Amino acid sequence: MPVPKKRRTHSRTRTNHAYNFRAQVKAAGVCKNCGAPVLPHVICPVCGYYKGRKVKKTKLEKRNARQARKAEENKK
Ligand SMILES: [Zn+2]
Repeated sequence: MPVPKKRRTHSRTRTNHAYNFRAQVKAAGVCKNCGAPVLPHVICPVCGYYKGRKVKKTKLEKRNARQARKAEENKK
């Protein structure tokens, strides 16, 4: 059976365990458009707004657009 070559010090053990208990990243602000918690300098993932301006389509909007396009194609 394999045996550890060296004794693992208390400090080393605690250092490794500390990694699992490190502080979680907390949202530093709220979206001005929808009020969802957002990270600084990051586009709101919920509504796609940044600095009060629409800059990105959300996944839901993309899906709705795709479904609308498909429905339009099926009508023809
Ligand atoms: Zn938002």
